[in-house]
Amino acid sequence: MYLQFLGTSAGVPTKQRNVSALALQESKGSDWYLIDCGEGTQHQLLHTSLSINTLKAIFITHVHGDHCYGLLGLLASAAMNGRKAPLQVIAPSGIAEWFAATQRYTALYIPYPLEFVLADDLPTLTFGNTQVSITPLSHRVPSYAYSFCEQQVESPLDIAKLQRDGIAKGPLWGQIKQGKDVTIGDTTVAASEYLLASRLPRKVVIAGDNDSPELLRTACQNAQLLVHEATYTQDVAEKVGDSVGHAYAGQVGQFAQECGLPNLLLTHFSPRYQAQAEVSPSVCDIGAEAQQSYQGQLWLAQDFARFQLSPEGELRLLSDGSGAKSAN
Ligand SMILES: [Zn+2]
Ligand SMILES: [Zn+2]
Repeated sequence: MYLQFLGTSAGVPTKQRNVSALALQESKGSDWYLIDCGEGTQHQLLHTSLSINTLKAIFITHVHGDHCYGLLGLLASAAMNGRKAPLQVIAPSGIAEWFAATQRYTALYIPYPLEFVLADDLPTLTFGNTQVSITPLSHRVPSYAYSFCEQQVESPLDIAKLQRDGIAKGPLWGQIKQGKDVTIGDTTVAASEYLLASRLPRKVVIAGDNDSPELLRTACQNAQLLVHEATYTQDVAEKVGDSVGHAYAGQVGQFAQECGLPNLLLTHFSPRYQAQAEVSPSVCDIGAEAQQSYQGQLWLAQDFARFQLSPEGELRLLSDGSGAKSAN
């Protein structure tokens, strides 16, 4: 699985950060999902290798503009680009109505099948080998987390044992890999004898705006990664009186520690936090506050930063995104 941030700022864009959007790509093939679509997301996409034609579904966490104002432009551009493949939009109440009104008043024609799925019904959805479940959060409007979990994990073949027992590479290996017992001569051998223990399915939880991380306790079970907002540090949250609606870094760090989450990725930073460590307040303050309670791997999202979650559940930074705009 690959993740690429397209926007990491809370509320309004800055020169360095656009508003919320995150691409999640499957390990194989070019299918990908978009979680939130702040204004300008389609412009951000132009600086990546992601194609709007291979986008499988869009998940909107909540109706605030910094998470969805880019949706209609992106859907319209997909139409202009000749998209034919169906597209699902999973979103809270209001988004489908907003789309319908815009379509009506701006003569917007969508030539591909577009289906809206109501997140408020908490459906469990399946896309290929990925199952998506939804968790309600606490914010000023209905807000949701989307958990992406691999459904089936292939057990690797015990190649050394196959070779030792003289089972030659060929169609039999394929059948064993699928868990089918095979017959060789007069003997039937159990596939399980030649399969190594399977790994845990990969699971990534991507949360919308949320002042109560503990609501994610069940969703985070067996997850390797939580992506959560950390709009403020605690002191600033108290100063601006925004403790209802948003999380502060220490709160999320403490929750992730309690859950034993191996990886925590913080995003959705208030524009007041500067990139430079020597300027106050800095995003580094957000990281430092989370690290006071969290001992796992902590990451602070940046626009265009690209991560890989390996089959073993290890998160790696592939690119910090700093060259994305100049490279294109
Ligand atoms: Zn927001
Ligand atoms: Zn919000």
